[in-house]
Amino acid sequence: MSDFVMSIAGEAVPTEGTFGVRNPATGEVFAQAPECSREQLNAAFDAAAKAARDWKLDEALRRATLLKAAGVLLASGGELAPILTGEQGKPLGDAGIEVFASAIWCQYFANLETPTQIIQDNDEALVEVARRPLGVVAAITPWNFPLLLSFWKIAPALLAGNTLVLKPSPFTPLTTLKVGELLRDVFPPGVVNIVSGGDELGAWMTTHPVPRKISFTGSIETGKKVAMSAAPDLKRVTLELGGNDPAIVLDDADPAIVATAIFAGAFNNNGQVCSAIKRVYVPEALYDDVVEGLAAHAKAIKVGDGTEPDSKLGPINNEPQFERVKELVADALSHGARAASGGQAMDRPGYFFEPTILAGLSDGTRIVDEEQFGPALPVISYRDLGDAIDRANATHFGLSGSVWGADTERAAAVAAQLECGTAWVNTHLALSPEQPFGGFKWSGIGVENGPWGLAEFTEFQVVHRSKAANGLNMNTAGLVS
Ligand code: NAD
Repeated sequence: MSDFVMSIAGEAVPTEGTFGVRNPATGEVFAQAPECSREQLNAAFDAAAKAARDWKLDEALRRATLLKAAGVLLASGGELAPILTGEQGKPLGDAGIEVFASAIWCQYFANLETPTQIIQDNDEALVEVARRPLGVVAAITPWNFPLLLSFWKIAPALLAGNTLVLKPSPFTPLTTLKVGELLRDVFPPGVVNIVSGGDELGAWMTTHPVPRKISFTGSIETGKKVAMSAAPDLKRVTLELGGNDPAIVLDDADPAIVATAIFAGAFNNNGQVCSAIKRVYVPEALYDDVVEGLAAHAKAIKVGDGTEPDSKLGPINNEPQFERVKELVADALSHGARAASGGQAMDRPGYFFEPTILAGLSDGTRIVDEEQFGPALPVISYRDLGDAIDRANATHFGLSGSVWGADTERAAAVAAQLECGTAWVNTHLALSPEQPFGGFKWSGIGVENGPWGLAEFTEFQVVHRSKAANGLNMNTAGLVS
């Protein structure tokens, strides 16, 4: 028996099959999650399609229920945070913040205006440009922020008038399933359906004939598969994919200040953030001071089980990712890099890795060129700023980046040269529901958040009301309107 159930058509749906979910702090299976069958997935999409008919007509209900959902989330932090820590590994405090932020996203979209634009209103015609929902959305999420990234999809999709079927990562399905249960009576049946299963369930969703849109967050590799699955059916896609964010330190920066801030931007969520700092470029004159400053933070921070109150970093979420970080760090060390701190897995059960600062390496090393997505940060020295900018951009990634210096105008001018969706100056990971978030190049297609993210859950519709007596007008271009 599964300890959690799926939510389909407003009902709790148990499954025949289950799969184990591991606590990354122990490596042990601690709960069973439901394994969705093809029939159950069909039922979820049917329910979403049926619910879409009325849901799209009642904007007031959509706003009211999103606010209600925010209230449920705010009231449930004490119940949800331990589940999230259990399956994801992050400290309880961070888990509570993730639940809180999910509520904030619901509130933001519940209150976001969706004005219809009037582009002509004269004797001939009233022409309006409206946004219409797409229908049913297939939403697929990763394991680093399972709840928050779900609400980056749920809140705008619902406000726009869509219904949805959402599948969390098999590494972290539980919190999302629990939220499905808590919200079952908040939304009309079928509006939000939560299913769970392995990667193949994601593939069934993207090839299913019902959804008109796939909103996907995950790796570049899977994102490309999703794009290919969507193409034959011309499903709309938003892809939020991996990043390899550069931080460029300028020669007028204070090494101690930037070391503190860059450490925070790189090791948030144990480095498992798509837009975390994943490589740092530092001028030669500041290099040793920045490396030592970063290493001092890495040595001082408390790593432990997320349930222990003083833990600031938890384990890596899952075994494949743990193995990958081990491999990339070992590769760097074997190619001459120096571990200014850490450098290996911790000698304890679970997927714990020492916070690692790597020095004496450069582009061309795997951990610089690839996305490590874990607690290991390479620091690279540079002589010429133009060269550092070129190296920062010489990649298929383009999610975000940051530039650090005392002269903020100069830093902003450098930031503008970064080929990425968000370019921060003297900060990193400053995200909000108002801000469009997305990647250049292989880091994604489209954006989430803000009115721009909302628009991606809609199609344009022109509503043209003729004011001519016979219904036919000639506009200035001589076309029949
Ligand atoms: P992943 O691509 O392995 O899995 C993501 C989701 O896709 C999971 O739910 C998985 O079950 C599902 N999936 C797997 N194969 C599928 C297929 N063929 N068709 C459809 N769905 C399939 O990614 P992950 O390891 O869970 O997450 C880590 C990655 O996500 C990192 O690269 C990270 O940078 C990226 N990420 C990006 C953002 C962003 O907003 N840009 C945010 C968080 C994470």
